[in-house]
Amino acid sequence: MQPVEPFLHTPRIAYFTMEIALRSEIPTYAGGLGVLAGDTMRTAADMDMPMVAVSLVSRAGYFQQSIDNEGQQLESPQAWDPAQWATKVEAMIAVDLGSRVVWVGGWLYIMQSQTGGRQPVILLDTDLSENSAEDRTITHYLYGGDERYRFKQEAILGIGGLRMLQALGFEIRQYHLNEGHSALLGIELLRRYAFPAEDLRAGESAYDIPRVREVCNFTTHTPIEAGHDKFSYELVEEVIDDIIDKPVLHRLGGEDRLNMTLLALNLSEYVNGVAKRHAEVSSKMFPGYRVRSVTNGVHPATWTHESFAKLYDTHLAGWCHEPEILVRADHAISHDALWQAHLDAKQTLIDYLSQHSNQQFDPTVATLGFARRMTAYKRPDLLFTDLDRLKAMTKAFPLQLVIAGKAHPRDEVGKALIKEIHNVAKNLNDDIRMVFLPDYNMDLAKLLIAGVDVWLNTPLRPLEASGTSGMKATFNGVPNLSILDGWWVEGCVEGITGWAIGDGPEGSNIGDALALYDKLEQVVLPLYYQDRSGWIDVMKGAIAKNASYFNSHRMMRRYAAEAYIR
Ligand SMILES: *Cc1c(COP(=O)(O)O)cnc(C)c1O
Repeated sequence: MQPVEPFLHTPRIAYFTMEIALRSEIPTYAGGLGVLAGDTMRTAADMDMPMVAVSLVSRAGYFQQSIDNEGQQLESPQAWDPAQWATKVEAMIAVDLGSRVVWVGGWLYIMQSQTGGRQPVILLDTDLSENSAEDRTITHYLYGGDERYRFKQEAILGIGGLRMLQALGFEIRQYHLNEGHSALLGIELLRRYAFPAEDLRAGESAYDIPRVREVCNFTTHTPIEAGHDKFSYELVEEVIDDIIDKPVLHRLGGEDRLNMTLLALNLSEYVNGVAKRHAEVSSKMFPGYRVRSVTNGVHPATWTHESFAKLYDTHLAGWCHEPEILVRADHAISHDALWQAHLDAKQTLIDYLSQHSNQQFDPTVATLGFARRMTAYKRPDLLFTDLDRLKAMTKAFPLQLVIAGKAHPRDEVGKALIKEIHNVAKNLNDDIRMVFLPDYNMDLAKLLIAGVDVWLNTPLRPLEASGTSGMKATFNGVPNLSILDGWWVEGCVEGITGWAIGDGPEGSNIGDALALYDKLEQVVLPLYYQDRSGWIDVMKGAIAKNASYFNSHRMMRRYAAEAYIR
C-alpha cells in the first residue's frame, strides 16, 4: 500500500512552499516563511482540515551557524536523513530541465496533531540514482547556489510538485502558493487545462487562464523588491524551454524578465498579504491587483512554554483548539500564578544560558530578547546606536540581552551586523550581560521567546510584512516592544499589550533609536522594576488581547472561509 493511501480519499488543498519548519531536527526552513508553513500544517492537522503540503527535501538543510572569536559567521551543511523522519513514496515523475530529464521522487512526512489529526507533507527529492551527479543536488541546499540552481529548484517545486501530486493520486480542490517560488505550478496547470487545438477558432488562446485562476491562491510575503524572484528569459528558456507559448509566458510573467510574483498574481484569483499594513503596501506595489489581507498567526501548542500551557489547561480548557478562549486570561488567571509561570520559563532560559555560554544571567534583572534572520532592514543593531546612553540607563535599571539569528551566507550586510553585535557584547560586558546564541532554530526560538521579559523588534518600516516571533511571545505573556510595523500595527494597544517604538508611517534610524531609548527608560523599565502588578497587567493584556487573535487557527479558518471555499 502506498504510504499516502490514507490521504487519497478526501479532496485536499495543496499548499506549495519552498521551505517548511516541520520540527527543529529537520532543517528544511530558513526563517519566518517556513515557520508559517509549518504552523499552517500543524493547524490543519489540529482542525482535520484536508490539506497536503509540497516542499523540497533540502537534504543539506539551510546551514548550521557558528560564530568565531572575531564574530565571523561560519557556515556548514546541516545534512539530515529523510528516512529517519519520513517514508519514501512509491512514485517518481520526470521534469525536463535544460534538455535533460530530471527524475523526482518524494518523501511523506506526516504532520501529527496532539489531538490525533494527521496531514501529509510531500518533500520532493532529486537525489536518485537515475539522475546525473549535478541534478541529484538540485533539492539539496535551501536557498543555496546561483540563479540557475534556484530556478531549477522552483521548477521542481512548481512543475514537479504538481506532477507528483497527480502521480500519487491526490485530488486537489485548490492550490495555495506560499510566496512566488512555486508560481510555475500555474504554468503547469495552464498546460494541463489547455483546450485541444481542434476546438479553437482562429486567434483563440489554447490556455484557460480563468480556470487556473479559479483554483489558485497566492500569499505574498515581502514588500522588499529584491525579495521577489526574477529570472532572465535566457535562463528560463535554457531550463524549461517550450513549456508554454512564449508570448503567453511573457504576458503573464513580465516582458523583460520572468517575475515570479507577477506570474503568481496573474494566475491567482485570491491574493493576500500577511498583515493589514502589508496588504496596503502590496496593493501600491502591484497596481491593478486586489490584494486582501489575512494577518498571520502562530500555532498555539507549538509556541507556548509548558508552564503557560499548564495554566491555560487548568483555567482556559480548550485553548489549543479555540485560542479565542484566551481572551479571558486576564480574569481567569491570578497575578501570582502568571508570574510564577513566567519565572519558570525564565529559569529554563537562564539554565540554558549557563550551560551554553559563559554568562550567568540573573533572574531578577529585566531581560530583553531579539532573534530573527539577521538582515539589514530588521536592524538588530538599532538598540546599540548610542552605547553611552544605553549604559547610562542601566545604572538605574539593570538590563540583560539575549540575541540570535542567522544571516544568509550571501548577505554581507547581515554578517557584518552579527560581527558588530559581537563587538558590542565585548564592549558592554561590564555594564550589561549580553549573549549571542548561535544557530537559531525552532527550539531555540521557543526557549528564548518564552524566557525573556520583553520581546524587541526594530525593523525599518514599512518593510516588515508581518513578523511572527512577537506573536509567539504573546502566548507566553511576554510583552512586545516594537516598531509599529507588520502585525504590531494591529496588535499594539499602548501600555496594555506592550509598547510601540516611534510613530508615523516611515522610520529613520536616529529617530527610532531615540524613541526606543525613551520608551525603555521612561516607560518599560520603570514599570518592570517599580510596579510589578502593573507589569503583570501588561503580560495579561498580551495574552488576552493578542494571543487570542494572532494564532494560526484564526488564520486558517479565514483562509478556509474566504480563499479555499469559492
Ligand atoms: C518565528 C521564527 C522566525 C520569524 O521571526 P520574525 O520575528 O517574524 O522575523 C524566524 N526563525 C525562527 C527559527 C522562528 O521560530
